[in-house]
Amino acid sequence: MTKYVYDFSEGNKDMKDLLGGKGANLAEMTNMGLPVPHGFTITTEACLAYLGKGDFPEGLMEETEEHRQGLEASMGKKLGDAEDPLLVSVRSGAKFSMPGMMDTVLNLGLNDRSLEGLAKQSDGDWRFAWDAYRRFVQMFGKIVMGVPGEAFEQALDRAKEAKGEGAKDTDLDADDLRALHAEFLDIYKRHTDSDFPTDPSEQLRLAVEAVFKSWNGKRARDYRRQNKISDDLGTAVNVQGMVFGNRGSDSGTGVAFTRNPANGEKVPYGDFLENAQGEDVVAGIRNTRKLQELEEFDPESYRELRQVMDTLEKHYRDMCDIEFTIEKGKLWILQTRIGKRTAFAEWVMAFDMLNEGLIDEGSALLRVDANRLEELFKRRVKADGAQPIAKGLNASPGAAVGEVVFTADDAEARAREGHKVVLVRRETTPDDYHGMIASQGILTSAGGTNSHAAVVARGEGIPAVCGADAVRIDFGTRSFTANGTTVKETDVVTIDGFTGNVYVGELPLEESVLEKARSGDAAAREERIWKAFDRIMSIADVRRRLRVRANADTPDQSTNARERGAEGIGLCRTEHMFLGQERVAAVQQMIFADTPEEEQSAYDKLLPLQREDFVGIFRAMDGLPVTVRLLDPPLHEFLPNQVDLAVAVTRAEDNGDDVVVLRDQRIPLEQARNLLRKVNELHEANPMLGLRGVRLGIVKPGLYAMQVRAICEAAAQVRKDGGDPKVEIMIPLVATKAELEQMRAELEPVARDVLERARMTIEHFEWGTMIEVPRAAVTSGEIAEVADFFSFGTNDLTQMGFGFSRDDIGKFVGMYEERKLVPANPFVTIDRQGVGRLMQLAVDEGKAANPSLHLGICGEHGGDPASVVFCHEIGLDYVSCSPFRVETARLAAGQAAVGSAESASK
Ligand code: PEP
Ligand code: MG
Repeated sequence: MTKYVYDFSEGNKDMKDLLGGKGANLAEMTNMGLPVPHGFTITTEACLAYLGKGDFPEGLMEETEEHRQGLEASMGKKLGDAEDPLLVSVRSGAKFSMPGMMDTVLNLGLNDRSLEGLAKQSDGDWRFAWDAYRRFVQMFGKIVMGVPGEAFEQALDRAKEAKGEGAKDTDLDADDLRALHAEFLDIYKRHTDSDFPTDPSEQLRLAVEAVFKSWNGKRARDYRRQNKISDDLGTAVNVQGMVFGNRGSDSGTGVAFTRNPANGEKVPYGDFLENAQGEDVVAGIRNTRKLQELEEFDPESYRELRQVMDTLEKHYRDMCDIEFTIEKGKLWILQTRIGKRTAFAEWVMAFDMLNEGLIDEGSALLRVDANRLEELFKRRVKADGAQPIAKGLNASPGAAVGEVVFTADDAEARAREGHKVVLVRRETTPDDYHGMIASQGILTSAGGTNSHAAVVARGEGIPAVCGADAVRIDFGTRSFTANGTTVKETDVVTIDGFTGNVYVGELPLEESVLEKARSGDAAAREERIWKAFDRIMSIADVRRRLRVRANADTPDQSTNARERGAEGIGLCRTEHMFLGQERVAAVQQMIFADTPEEEQSAYDKLLPLQREDFVGIFRAMDGLPVTVRLLDPPLHEFLPNQVDLAVAVTRAEDNGDDVVVLRDQRIPLEQARNLLRKVNELHEANPMLGLRGVRLGIVKPGLYAMQVRAICEAAAQVRKDGGDPKVEIMIPLVATKAELEQMRAELEPVARDVLERARMTIEHFEWGTMIEVPRAAVTSGEIAEVADFFSFGTNDLTQMGFGFSRDDIGKFVGMYEERKLVPANPFVTIDRQGVGRLMQLAVDEGKAANPSLHLGICGEHGGDPASVVFCHEIGLDYVSCSPFRVETARLAAGQAAVGSAESASK
């Protein structure tokens, strides 16, 4: 029979799939001898079985009961006991931590009998006992039975108000809490139509069931989708003996990180609250105290905690995030995991740990997340003496400028309308998640470095300032004030997640440290983040097998790409070279030409312009290969829009005008009619599948010949000047071997002619094609016989592979992803099973037919880390991507060569 329940002493840290992250680490810590309250874990398999059939799988309840008895025996206490009761916490714990997304019930086991026992255990502290009881009813009601949380919160607020202005929860005495508990029971009954369950077994069964179900709750699903976590994992349930941080002034609870998760510094970081339970820290109920202050409060526990932190970091060889509770001076560790961290901190930590000898080079390389690398290049606030209106904790780095909104729904709605927003709240809860991810930045007035807002913002890479207590929000007037300044809804603010400063209005931003360092700024080069970046990127460069090129169309783009480490150009799209007033006129002359002479005269105008462009590009990429793609788009793209032109002509005719006004152009009527005739002639129902790519080259032979001439003349000129151009000419949209053969037969003599006349030889000169049509992939063995290289055009290959229009997919791809009809957006990450198989086939058959064939990719996927890994696996020689993703691709290529990335960002 399947084993569904594991005692903490039976598991270990590598059992995350089965025990969830929390359960596996509790087991690990138990076996390390750390002070962990006893408990057991119900597996993710049990959860999946429950969700599959809508009921507990056979044997689960019996096994749970057995472990419950074992727990009672090891704690020497029983659930529900009137003398010395055991209370337990019931917590969810999936493989990947999902902050605040899943549910927890504390103090389970309380009823009127065990309440007496709890009071006895605490030397007659009835205040403590009633507080525990009301918390239990509140959590159980909200989480297990779905009673709206506000109903309880409002009752608590009323009780505090009745105590006087500014009263805190700690000001409520035993009688207040007993009355509050009675009110909570009424609320419970009103909303559930049932009495609060008093049998602890029944409480436990219902709580476990609620945790199972919470896996499929909306919050959890949204979080998984955003963070690309599979829906098929399920959650484990941890049942653990309760310890209490709210047992008086010698108790407390907190969260500690072994290093700073916001900036990576090797300084213990975290916060705690005295006389409080764990959820108070995360919920930002009271402002927390810095972890270091614990030393004064309870030096012995602080010393022990620091030791545990040290032990755990060395054991896990990574930054750990630890939840602890001190009960009457005794330290308990309730949880640990590899701590989430910002992209920034991730690099600094990996670098430091490498230098400390805690991890090796390969591990350091795998510790950073290529998907988040761009965050390091984000710009920062340039304060230049501007006065902040408030200052909070620098909870998540980065700069955010946006309009103030006060609710998550408003944030989502305004962002959808295209506004940039900053969400301002007292604190956030998991229900705000949708608004948080729609915001540029998050500002909270309460809550510490580990509040929900801070944790989520760091995980999502959203700049955040938390606990800015000068910020007073007034929902009535939809405004906040801070140190005398009033800021209304939709006013613009700037928040600086690096310093914690909040400013009114839009402040200028400046380049990131990395950007400055790259351009030689000496001070920036001294910064830790640059040193970390430089070191880890050089490890990636040494380890990677894939070369990385850039898609660049101009000399400036090429220079930029080269500075970022590009090793050539994998795609130079020549279409932009046909734009600009002078060029469009020549292109239109080519399109309208009635005779070969007229057409040739248009080419003669275009040729020197193109040559000049290529000279610049070859110079910028001197010594590195440059793949130039001959013209790809349909010719009508160089003519006015058909509908606009038809409307303008009709309007002129109706008004009797002899000039047609089209945008800022004035065209004589007769000429406009001619233009319209040609536009109509070139019109295609389906231009993406029409006269474009190689088909254009075949229909208009002079066009490609002109381009090849310009390329070769440019290469000859650069060579003559002592340069080393490496030329690769690429024919787009080829579907048959014959097309490529014909093109080469026409164009190679042109190239030979130019080079012979210039008395130049170019050593690296190749002819190849894109593989972007499924037929080309399938017949790649034949095509490879006449190609020196293939470059996968995965934008078109995906478009034609799926039959999804790349221009229109945005309308439904989100829904497709949500419903799991595709594993990911196939235009972002290569669809391994379909498009990927076409690529694999083309690689295998192409190489078999032509062993010296070299292979690359130039679709957008070339800069997507998961796709780069795939390209490594199928044996491509290089990936090519837009210049700003070159570093991402270098990193991902390095990681692919070493193993699988293990960033703690999930
Ligand atoms: C491709 O199709 O993947 C490609 C690189 O070409 P384009 O995006 O220009 O069609
Ligand atoms: Mg294409």
